[in-house]
Amino acid sequence: MWQPQRHPLYEAGVHFALTTVGMVSVTVITGELSRLRAQLVDAVATIRTLATTDELTLLANRRHMRELLALAQQRRAALPQQPCVALLDVDFFKAINDRYGHGAGDAVLQAFAREAGATLRTADTLARWGGEEFLLLMPATRLDEALAVLDRIAARIAALRLPAIDPALRITFSAGVASPLAAEGFDDAIQRAGAAMYRAKASGRNCVLAA
Ligand code: GH3
Ligand code: MG
Ligand code: MG
Repeated sequence: MWQPQRHPLYEAGVHFALTTVGMVSVTVITGELSRLRAQLVDAVATIRTLATTDELTLLANRRHMRELLALAQQRRAALPQQPCVALLDVDFFKAINDRYGHGAGDAVLQAFAREAGATLRTADTLARWGGEEFLLLMPATRLDEALAVLDRIAARIAALRLPAIDPALRITFSAGVASPLAAEGFDDAIQRAGAAMYRAKASGRNCVLAA
């Protein structure tokens, strides 16, 4: 404006245009980066869910339960009360698949997980350990308290009705419960719970035995 010979209007115009393009670019890039960041946060949350959740039952999966057991093992020494573990296996599940089809079997597993999960205390974790086998971790729980938890699950499963599959269908499970001994790791305790579960199967199923 003051020195129009030194700074012609077109030059000022070019500067103005370049500055505008620069500022608009920075705004667009910043917006794009924050959009990408939000997508990344979503993706990480999805990956975490996929890595820790069983797709069919939405319970913790085996991998996640292994992590929780490792954490519980680290904390055990500092805690006054010992944990308990229980292995639950649906009775005659193969017969349900054979009679009503695999899709109905899947629906039974989902219903089992939902009902059993609904009876748990907040600190307890139920995981899908294998096909129709579930592992329950109960921190700071005496064996008699753990057996009471299993009784509540059994009552809830006994009341489960699946009219969409067959109104007469009744689901039962057999379970073994173990409290890790002082020097015993979770793997050995789970093995003892499994042995108790097989004894429950052998003694006619639909019951819970302490290891
Ligand atoms: P038991 O009372 O002795 O436990 O007998 P069972 O029939 O429950 O046990 P078995 O181990 O003979 O059969 C388990 C069946 O579970 C076999 C397998 O095909 C089925 N299964 C495993 N995972 C799934 C799944 O995700 N969906 C369905 N529908 N079936 C499954
Ligand atoms: Mg079974
Ligand atoms: Mg089984």
